[in-house]
Amino acid sequence: MQVSKGQSQDQIRVSPVANGETLLIDGQWTASHSSDSFSSINPATGDDLGQVSAGDATDVDAAVLSARTAFDERRWLSMPYPERAKILNSIADRIEAEMDELVVNEVRENGMPVPIAQRTIGGGVQAFRYYAGWLGKIHGQTGEIAAGDAFHAFTLKEPMGVAALIVPWNGPFMLACHKVAPALAAGCTAILKPAEDTSLNTLHLARIALEAGVPAGVLNVVTGLGSIAGQALAEHPDVDKISFTGSTAVGRRLVQASAGNLKRLSLELGGKSPVIVLDDADLEMAIPGVLRGIMINSGQACVAGSRLYAHSKIYDKLVQALSDAASKMVIGNGLDEGVQMGPVISQKQFDRIIGYIESGVSEGAELATGGERHGDTGFFIKPTILSRVPTSARVVREEIFGPVLSAMPFDDLDWAIREANNTRYGLAGAVYTTSLEKAHTVARAVKAGTFWINTPSLTDFWMPFGGYKESGWGREGGAMGVDAYMETKSVIARLY
Ligand code: NAP
Ligand code: MG
Repeated sequence: MQVSKGQSQDQIRVSPVANGETLLIDGQWTASHSSDSFSSINPATGDDLGQVSAGDATDVDAAVLSARTAFDERRWLSMPYPERAKILNSIADRIEAEMDELVVNEVRENGMPVPIAQRTIGGGVQAFRYYAGWLGKIHGQTGEIAAGDAFHAFTLKEPMGVAALIVPWNGPFMLACHKVAPALAAGCTAILKPAEDTSLNTLHLARIALEAGVPAGVLNVVTGLGSIAGQALAEHPDVDKISFTGSTAVGRRLVQASAGNLKRLSLELGGKSPVIVLDDADLEMAIPGVLRGIMINSGQACVAGSRLYAHSKIYDKLVQALSDAASKMVIGNGLDEGVQMGPVISQKQFDRIIGYIESGVSEGAELATGGERHGDTGFFIKPTILSRVPTSARVVREEIFGPVLSAMPFDDLDWAIREANNTRYGLAGAVYTTSLEKAHTVARAVKAGTFWINTPSLTDFWMPFGGYKESGWGREGGAMGVDAYMETKSVIARLY
């Protein structure tokens, strides 16, 4: 793909959105009621990409009213389902047609290298096609009941109503698509709240949805701070459902804030995923797999394999090979050809990650590679491997969300499995081995919503995605992903 470097000086423009009028309410782009706004920053350069409106509780009230009115007036549901499917497919086509611009914007706002942005925005296209395919396949059941054949019994699947969709910054456009597509497929109306660090490119999704024929009020956007706009959505008595992807800490806050009207909650939260490498593993497969599993997107992936348990027979060889490969990774502006790793999202994350690395070393880990800033502009951190980390260290216990792998040797597989499960999280896990028996034993034993054998980080739309333990509530993807936006009603009719 040809990318003009000059573009990185430009702002992210979302015609017809005027600079700072980033709220979409009832089909109209508008500024926040208070006129407050903040900048979106390019993490590779520090450039200001444009103004984002800081929506507050008053703006959230307007967005909820818009979504509620559109739902009650059946602006979306009254369209026959083939028409709704056509609109969802048209959103996919339009994202695909604008792919190059969306990819460049995503790189400028998030920092990820172009190939990752191509894959993630491509994932957004697939999400709309996949969920468009659900239209016409969502239905209830009918069956005999014990009261006898004087009765006709059936179930109805109904959309929950107004859904608030709150997304993080690490895969902003794709994660927004992963929520908007199933919410609309289920027949809900929605309010999207992008992350404050990555709001601008996501606005293109809302513009495209309008252009594709999604009626006014069916998809609204409130940009703003999580603690204000997000919190107001969580507390709002007329929001029926929240689908949230983000940190476990904020997830816990949402549980409390949404208790008022007992909102339905889907929570895709953090992780501290273990990777177990056995002494019989094919290291040619394990080395790039483990490295990719943690360093992809600068470690800013919820499923990142951030804890490595490697058999002591291969431990030194593996850690050496991982360190060599990590130190050769090409770090830089994601728009530059050949770059494998971009910056982390913000100064705040940069400071947090460096703090974690320092704490790992002070708690007894050996620094095998990295551990410091790369270059002198932007928020770049060298891929970092901490070796022989004490299992009690914070870098083993807490989600870092940066390019930092904590490696530990083991002799006894049962110990490794116990340690793998010795965490509050349960999002993902992986094992590398050539033994079929051990692969499946470990896959069954690790408490995680997704597990990989001899491969890093694959997912698919039909496969349920979500976490055990404090990694979340519910599943996205497949039938469960659509069901997460629906209620089921039982109807019994007397016939005679
Ligand atoms: P975050 O701080 O939890 O923020 C996520 C979203 O919630 C943002 O839009 C944020 O707005 C908003 N928010 C913050 N405080 C809120 C509140 N009190 N009420 C309502 N909304 C609020 O997470 P992050 O740092 O942006 O993202 C990284 C986290 O996401 C990591 O823990 C990662 O593991 C997780 N994640 C999970 C998955 C998964 O599928 N399981 C996928 C990707 C990421 P602001 O941006 O304004 O703060
Ligand atoms: Mg945040």
